[in-house]
Order: sequence, then C-alpha cells, then structure tokens
Amino acid sequence: LEEKIISLEGRVPKTYPDVQFLNYLTRKRILVTGGAGFVGSHLVDKLMLQGHEVIVADNFYTGRKSNVEHWVGHENFELIHHDIVNPLYIEVEEIYHLASPASPPHYMQNPVKTIKTNTLGTINILGLARRLNAKVLIASTSEVYGDPNIHPQPETYWGHVNPIGPRACYDEGKRVSESLTYAYAKQENMQVRVARIFNTYGPRMHMNDGRVVSNFILQALQDDVITVYGSGDQTRSFQYVSDLVEGLVALMNSNYSLPVNLGNPVEHTINEFATIIKTLVGGHSKIVHVSEVEDDPQRRRPNITRAKTFLNWEPKVDLNIGLQRTVEYFKQELKRFKHSPRN
Ligand code: NAD
Ligand code: UDP
Ligand code: UDP
Repeated sequence: LEEKIISLEGRVPKTYPDVQFLNYLTRKRILVTGGAGFVGSHLVDKLMLQGHEVIVADNFYTGRKSNVEHWVGHENFELIHHDIVNPLYIEVEEIYHLASPASPPHYMQNPVKTIKTNTLGTINILGLARRLNAKVLIASTSEVYGDPNIHPQPETYWGHVNPIGPRACYDEGKRVSESLTYAYAKQENMQVRVARIFNTYGPRMHMNDGRVVSNFILQALQDDVITVYGSGDQTRSFQYVSDLVEGLVALMNSNYSLPVNLGNPVEHTINEFATIIKTLVGGHSKIVHVSEVEDDPQRRRPNITRAKTFLNWEPKVDLNIGLQRTVEYFKQELKRFKHSPRN
C-alpha cells in the first residue's frame, strides 16, 4: 500500500486544455443540464475555455461521460449524476437547460419520461433559477413548429403539431417548456432566454443516435445501404455544432428575452443530403427508399432574421466542411468500437 501511495504522489499530473484566467468579477458559475450530451459537451468546452466554473448535471440517458472526460478533475469543473425530474439544490449564476433526449428514436423510446423531463424537469430548473435569481436559457426546438405550413419558419409562427402523434412527447413537451418559461418570467420577474434549435450535427453525436446525419455517415462508411425514409423530398437545414454553441452563448449574453431561432438556413431535400454524404465518404453504398415515418415534418428551414438583428449571429461553417469533420469523428468512433474489449 505504501508503495502505491508513493507512486500516486509522484504521478504525472493530468494536463488540461489551457483555460483563460478570469477574475472573480467576470468569472461566472454556470450550470449546464444535459452537459454530457452532444450539444451540451461542446457548450461546456466553450465555457470552460473562457475561464468560467461549469457544473454539469446529467443522468447519462443519451449522454456520455467520455464527452466531458477531458475536464474531469479540473478545478473549475464538476460533473453531477442527476436526473432533472428531481429537484436540484446548488448555487449558480447562469443556467443552460439542455437536458432532454433529442433524437426521434431516443425520445420515442420512453415518451412518458420525455414529457416528464421537459415539464417537471423544466419546472425544477425554473424553480432553481427563481430561488437564485439566475439567468436561464432553455433549449427549445424547431419541432415546436411541427409539420409547418409556413416556410421558412419565423418565431412568430405558432406551429402545426399533432398533440397525440408519436412525436408529441417531444414537440408538446418543448412547447410546455416554453410556456412554463414565459409564465415564470412574467409571474416571478425572471430573466429568461429561449433558443429554438434547428437540426444540428457534428462530432460527439451518438453512434446509435438514429438521426439522419449519423445514420447516413455510418451507413456510407460501412458500405451499408443508405436508408431514406419515404420519398426523400422532405427537407431539412443542417447547422454545425460550433455555430449553435456561438449562438447559445450570444443569446444568453444578449438582452433579448423572446424565442430565437438558431439554425442554418441552407436547405436540402433528404435525397440531396444522401447524395452529398455518399459523395463525401465515397464507398459503394446504394441509396434506398424505405417506408416513411409517421408525422415526419415535410419542410424545415429557419428564418434567422431575429438572431441576425438582436444577436449579430449567423452560422459560419459550410456544410461540406462540417460534414468532413463529422465523418472523421465517426471513422475514429468505428475504430474505437471495433477495438473495444466489450465487443
Ligand atoms: P443529447 O441526447 O446528445 O443530449 C441530451 C443530454 O441530456 C444527454 O446528455 C442526456 O443524458 C441528458 N438528459 C436527458 N434526460 C435527462 C434528465 N431527465 N435528467 C438529466 N439529464 C438528462 O442531445 P443534444 O442533441 O445534445 O440536444 C441537447 C438539447 O438541444 C436538447 O434539449 C434538445 O432538445 C435540443 N435540440 C437539439 C437539436 C439537435 O439537432 N441536436 C435540435 C433541436 C433541439
Ligand atoms: N426547485 C429546485 N431547486 C431549487 C428551488 C426549487 O429544484 O433551488 C424545485 C422545487 O422542487 C419545486 C420547483 O423547483 O418543485 C418549482 O419551484 P418553485 O419555487 O417555483 O415552486 P414551489 O416550490 O412553490 O413548488
Ligand atoms: N431520415 C432518413 N433516414 C434516416 C434517418 C432520418 O431519411 O436514416 C429522415 C427523416 O425521416 C427526416 C429527416 O431525415 O425526414 C431528419 O430526420 P432526423 O431524425 O435527423 O431529425 P428530425 O428533423 O426529424 O427531428
């Protein structure tokens, strides 16, 4: 034992990415719920590098410790295993509330839990923010517009959502989350921010995420068939994750309290998208059409005038560049997965 203790004393200290030094006036203590997930972990990187103290609360439902493991042990960082459906008592000055499954297969797997997370969970986070007088940003979604009959979608559009369909647990959950946020803001005089996030992709998406970007890239990398659901004429607009993170931070730091769309307005049909990915990855995959999914929104593209006007924000990363980075990430993941002792 003594030998072990001595070897621990002499261990090479873990090196962390260099963080900026902030004095006590500018450094904030920030909670990121869902911070071990895809978007949350990139946000955590940005806030940590800026020199803030960051607390992540996550139940690891779809997130992974490995997404934030490079910060574990850092004096500015704390990771709490916590389900936000339960109350949380900590002391922070700002809250980014991202905890919620986001991909359709994940949120449909346990729809009741998805609703609880977005209602009870959001109430707890708003209660926490109220007690602390903390500024709170809620991650909402373009899904509040449902299968939209206005195109592109401005924030003033009220949406077209089926309240009892398979996507309702998420869409209506997020709509209630927004309603709660504005009810608290009005009643309790709180500072709130609401980001309506459109389809986002990038490294650290889950291998089994089931969303179109990860599916198509993994299928193309493994020479499997690329599965287009339905006709493939439905459209989406894809934003790279670093653009979203910039937008979230800009929104939090702004004075703008109404919902803001954060997304890339470059729109593609899913057929076009399948071809773009196949061309980028190479390989011999065939593009096939399988049955359509129920209530699949047919068109989606953000109107980002608000974000441009009030946040001076617009996406910068070109689709091809973002996709190349994501393909590289999935190549590494596939290697890691193949060589994992658990397989
Ligand atoms: P993700 O699934 O990778 O991350 C969500 C994180 O929340 C995970 O770490 C998960 O473990 C955690 N979580 C889920 N339920 C929880 C609970 N009850 N308690 C504590 N933690 C919980 O998804 P993401 O893509 O990073 O999405 C993050 C947020 O952004 C979500 O709120 C999502 O609705 C929103 N959003 C994402 C997109 C997108 O395209 N990625 C689009 C619109 C909105
Ligand atoms: N809450 C929390 N942390 C806090 C303060 C409140 O998790 O620091 C939870 C609390 O459990 C409550 C919810 O947030 O259920 C809403 O709080 P609020 O103060 O609005 O309502 P109340 O306590 O009156 O129900
Ligand atoms: N999609 C597809 N093949 C897949 C996964 C998704 O054709 O393997 C389609 C899906 O039907 C939808 C679009 O791609 O029209 C985007 O789906 P995703 O699940 O990524 O996100 P959504 O925007 O629907 O939440």
